Amino acid sequence: MRIGHSTDIHRLEPGNKLIIGGVIIHHYLGSVGHSDGDCLLHTVCESLIGALALGDLGKLFPDTSEEYRGISSSLLVKAVMIEVKRMGYKVVNIDSTVFLEEPKLSNYIPEMRKNIAELLEIEVDRVSVKATTSEKVGIVGRMEAIMTESTVLVEKI
Ligand SMILES: [Zn+2]
Repeated sequence: MRIGHSTDIHRLEPGNKLIIGGVIIHHYLGSVGHSDGDCLLHTVCESLIGALALGDLGKLFPDTSEEYRGISSSLLVKAVMIEVKRMGYKVVNIDSTVFLEEPKLSNYIPEMRKNIAELLEIEVDRVSVKATTSEKVGIVGRMEAIMTESTVLVEKI
């Protein structure tokens, strides 16, 4: 078994979409990013990349590349999963936290878990997504940014 962890931060600005775990969240602020800015799926990718010691997301998908501009982050997860399987591993479980001041995410979490479970080819009960605020403190608390963390366990097949 191998474990991987990842943290990601994206700036929040008006006029951008807010997509978290593949779910479009209706909000006046959105996540600035080279892809679709899906901070949660980025840590899903990078925790897997970390578990297999493959470097980081920027190494696999350079953000200077036009190819990845506006790309759905679910495609990035799929590409990483091809690598996971090529190396002979499967995902055991994943635990993620989303740090966001507004809006409340509880209604969106079941769909995020379903999306991540499908992408990682595991049952929904192996996918945990938690949401928390930053108590109005710091870049998350001032609604300047969204932050996510993921920890994943993989197992040799
Ligand atoms: Zn990111």
